[in-house]
Amino acid sequence: MSNDKIQSAAVRVLPSLPYAENALDPAISAKTIGFHYGKHHKGYVENLNKLAAGTEFADLTLEQIIAATAGKADKTAFFNNAAQAWNHTFYWSSLKPKGGGEPPAMLKQKIEAAFGTVDACKKELATAATTQFGSGWAWLVLDGGTLKVVKTGNADSPLIQGKKPLLTLDVWEHAYYLDYQNRRADYVAAVLDKLINWDFAAKNLG
Ligand code: MN
Repeated sequence: MSNDKIQSAAVRVLPSLPYAENALDPAISAKTIGFHYGKHHKGYVENLNKLAAGTEFADLTLEQIIAATAGKADKTAFFNNAAQAWNHTFYWSSLKPKGGGEPPAMLKQKIEAAFGTVDACKKELATAATTQFGSGWAWLVLDGGTLKVVKTGNADSPLIQGKKPLLTLDVWEHAYYLDYQNRRADYVAAVLDKLINWDFAAKNLG
């Protein structure tokens, strides 16, 4: 069985974290990552496997399930679990130990073209992350060749709006409540200053 086939097979596995659970401490504690990755993310993968077993979705990739179920009222559970599985894997790679700082040159050029400065881009990401009402995500995306900041609610993804995600911030309470309680803005500031993985965003520019 090829790796591609394993990737799309019915039993999906929880992807490994790209770093140790304590690697983002103190901006995000090992305790938060333990619950967020080991319980929440794992739960979405397990729920999707249960739902998909024996259905037309069993052998589809996450992206295919997301595209096939978006906006369909009778497929909400499939969409939510597949999109949350995809969003979380993307979120872990959007962070890295000793992140933040300056983006790589080509990304920086695109950021400056769209937002003026890297700080202005970070400010827009912070605004999207702190003003998303309730659970959701803030994203840097490529939309028709231009960088934009967007926010989505619950499990929603820019993928279904035809936008290419470059990086994301999880602003569900489970992402920060153990470390910051109600202070979402402090979590967002710590992520943008200390953890954001511009290299990952640059790689996603393609
Ligand atoms: Mn989450």
